[in-house]
Amino acid sequence: MKTVTLIPGDGIGPEIAAAVKKVFEALKVPVVFEEVNAGKAVFEREGTYLPDALFESLERNKIALKGPITTPIGHGFRSLNVELRKKYDLYQNIRPIKPAADLPMKFDDVDMVLFRENTEDLYAGVEEVISENEAHSIKIITRDKSERIIRAAFDYAAANKRRSVTVVTKANIMKATDGLFLDVARDVAKDYDVPMKEILVDNMAMQMVMNPGQFDVIVTENLYGDILSDLGAGLIGGLGMIPGMNKGKDMAIYESVHGSAPDIQGKGIANPTAMLLTSCLMLDDMGEGASAEKIRRAVYDVLSNPDTRTADLGGKLSTEDYVRALIERV
Ligand code: NAD
Repeated sequence: MKTVTLIPGDGIGPEIAAAVKKVFEALKVPVVFEEVNAGKAVFEREGTYLPDALFESLERNKIALKGPITTPIGHGFRSLNVELRKKYDLYQNIRPIKPAADLPMKFDDVDMVLFRENTEDLYAGVEEVISENEAHSIKIITRDKSERIIRAAFDYAAANKRRSVTVVTKANIMKATDGLFLDVARDVAKDYDVPMKEILVDNMAMQMVMNPGQFDVIVTENLYGDILSDLGAGLIGGLGMIPGMNKGKDMAIYESVHGSAPDIQGKGIANPTAMLLTSCLMLDDMGEGASAEKIRRAVYDVLSNPDTRTADLGGKLSTEDYVRALIERV
């Protein structure tokens, strides 16, 4: 049995974490969850958002499945998600964008894997309020951190025989920072047989909506990656459908792309598919790919039937009923 840190998180986090636990139990997946929470609930109890017990558990297990954590918008403390990614140098944020079921969609050829740099850019948190009228955010891009994420994307593309790597920047305007990222990409690409495409982020947004099938592996900076992966989610059924992972040299935290969805918290209607597919990415990496495949097949079967979908996909099933229907098929 392998031990994984489980961070249920805020909002719908506990509801979707419970769904994963139920499915793992039903499938007898050889994983033990060590549950340590972070976020609002912990703050209310212990006066800290990220308790020491969480760091101890992460450092012991090196692998975690994490629910979303709420970050106050426009004021208050900095994102705990960003803090964890920085603390453990989880520099690769990988988000596969591919339909997980036969859903009514505009395109049937969406199959992208987005690599987002996860530690710098405008997310470095170098911000200053100069006056009531003025505030600054510094964008930080470095050669070494750009190189390691771009190499990760090319390594993945080469190992998985993908068609191309698209590098997304705004290097026409941000010549110093995005220009550096693009220069590094052009250098790195010389070491691989995989063709590299270059595109500006505004055009990328339009092309992803008009003709997503032209893209395969994508590599980009932190902010663009955050936005484009939500755009990608919109192509394949929404945020409830898209998994993700944060990886460093010796630790990985698996988490869905979506946030804590406070608008549906406690209503019992959250779609746990993203979290389940996220757990499948974790199982693949843990050598438990057979269990992951069983879960993916069950998700496909259940969601391909309009009668067994959750509300975000136009269906009537509650989170619990969906999980029940899924377990019947594994
Ligand atoms: P969100 O992803 O929480 O929600 C956006 C919309 O998608 C909402 O209408 C929500 O109901 C819906 N949605 C999201 N996940 C769903 C699911 N599994 N099933 C059904 N519907 C789902 O984004 P937001 O509202 O912009 O952010 C809310 C909070 O989450 C913020 O505090 C933000 O900082 C935080 N957040 C956390 C993470 C993370 O922990 N990794 C990621 C993104 C946002």
